[in-house]
Amino acid sequence: MSYCGLTGEYQLLDTGLHTLSDSFARVKRLGFNGVNVTIPHKENIIKLLDDVSQEAKQIGAVNTIKFSKNGTATGFNTDVFGFSKSLTEALKRESIDTEWSRSTLVLGSGGAARAVVAGLMELGYLDISVFARTKEKGTEFVKDLCRKLGPKGELMFESTAIRAVDSLDESVLNDKSILINATPIGMDGNPPPDWLLGAISSLDRRAFIYDLVYSRLTDQPTPIESVAQLLGLSSIDGTAMLIFQALRAFEIWTGMQVPVDCMKNALARRCCS
Ligand code: NAP
Repeated sequence: MSYCGLTGEYQLLDTGLHTLSDSFARVKRLGFNGVNVTIPHKENIIKLLDDVSQEAKQIGAVNTIKFSKNGTATGFNTDVFGFSKSLTEALKRESIDTEWSRSTLVLGSGGAARAVVAGLMELGYLDISVFARTKEKGTEFVKDLCRKLGPKGELMFESTAIRAVDSLDESVLNDKSILINATPIGMDGNPPPDWLLGAISSLDRRAFIYDLVYSRLTDQPTPIESVAQLLGLSSIDGTAMLIFQALRAFEIWTGMQVPVDCMKNALARRCCS
């Protein structure tokens, strides 16, 4: 904020599933310019908003809210931009070729997975498998997301170009050029469960691992990245996505743009303090 000559604060406000509505009403009263919404509230927050951007409506998840002067709350999704931009940059930086297969695998069926699928579609990865730990949730996720995404989503759903898978056997894994973890696995620092270790080790050696979990801007790999590195697979964590989604959110709140390094330093100071 100081880079743009603004005064203000970015605070962490904790709220549970059952207190979301009360917490949000309080935040509205307190006169904030805006808020970010994170795990696990990105979908449930929508019903509390006055308006939702077309993109956020399409994917059914909001991570950024702007309050107008008269107190109305509009929801946006900046995760799609954060994901697509960070993925594109990482593949380019590391000269990773995904042309050998445009088939991808997304783990999880929450708010972040919605942004990931939308981002993959935007980048032309039009063969997407989604694995959720509860089969019914995975199936419902794919159906709901495709319906919201309009004709392109409907078409992908009908042609099963996007599908929920309920096991990670070789037939699912062998042609995947990118595996994206959109679950909190590894956030607690613990190693990935056996089923995920098995899945990563069955991937083609050219596959790229994108772990949305971020390692608090330290140089340490996330637990999933550690496994990928041991197996010789390229990977990134969610730090770059965090930075890019934050740049877009800042622009929504203030109308101003800040350089990537400036946001990176601000996040590093925040995470390391
Ligand atoms: P969410 O809405 O709560 O969804 C989490 C998903 O993960 C759900 O499908 C959940 O399944 C599944 N899950 C939870 N624990 C699991 C486990 N132990 N094994 C298998 N699946 C599990 O959360 P979210 O907002 O999507 O966030 C997911 C992750 O992405 C978090 O780690 C978050 O920090 C990260 N993220 C990072 C960025 C970034 O900028 N880097 C942005 C967004 C999110 P159930 O529905 O069955 O519980």
